[in-house]
Amino acid sequence: MDLGGWLDGFFDVFFPRSCVSCGKVVEAGDFRHLCAGCGRRVVYAGSPRCDTCGYPIFGAVESGRSCPHCLHLRPEYRVGRTACLFQGPVRALVHALKYERAEYVARDLSILAVHSPGFLDHLRGAVLVPVPLHRRKLRERGYNQSELIARRLSAVGGSSIRVENLLERVVDTPSQTHYSRKDRQTNLKNAFALAGNAAIMADTRYVLLDDVFTTGSTLNACAKVLRRSGVKDLDIATIGHG
Ligand SMILES: [Zn+2]
Ligand SMILES: [Zn+2]
Repeated sequence: MDLGGWLDGFFDVFFPRSCVSCGKVVEAGDFRHLCAGCGRRVVYAGSPRCDTCGYPIFGAVESGRSCPHCLHLRPEYRVGRTACLFQGPVRALVHALKYERAEYVARDLSILAVHSPGFLDHLRGAVLVPVPLHRRKLRERGYNQSELIARRLSAVGGSSIRVENLLERVVDTPSQTHYSRKDRQTNLKNAFALAGNAAIMADTRYVLLDDVFTTGSTLNACAKVLRRSGVKDLDIATIGHG
């Protein structure tokens, strides 16, 4: 007997789940915490897209690499992919995970990755390196949301996707949300370091993983540390972009 499935059914009858985005009751479907209507509102990042940040290029393809989202960035990695745009239902899921202790929505974020064209292929055969939280933040939140997402991605994407916590956040920088791009870069200087027990394999492909791509400053600061530590084959991936 499928006890897990039976229990899910039991809880659904007595404690119906509500959509984290609009509050409606969630019926059976791909997502556990998004209703079908909100599920359909997710915008996946298909091709053509920017090679550095993964943002889809809508309409006519612009000449050269002129993505307005990452023009300023000198990427320390090769390719960046994002599963979907960080808006509406995706924003609600990430917000619940980061600020409402809703650890359980990490599964739905991995479902976004499954539905996003080519996204899991980008992760296959790689070691995922979650962007770390500072100890203080980790204590406060109880978990690192990027690590939770990475572990779910490894569960849905197969055994070729592994997860290793190779980085540490050594400086407790203030929340980056209200800083300009330039200030973010200054704040993040030396904020990350290789973890004490980290071992880098020369012939391994690594993919840095974060929940959201905003300016790319955090991911690029992490990429710089991995590069300096001997990583040659390095890409990045995020669930949302915006
Ligand atoms: Zn909804
Ligand atoms: Zn871009």
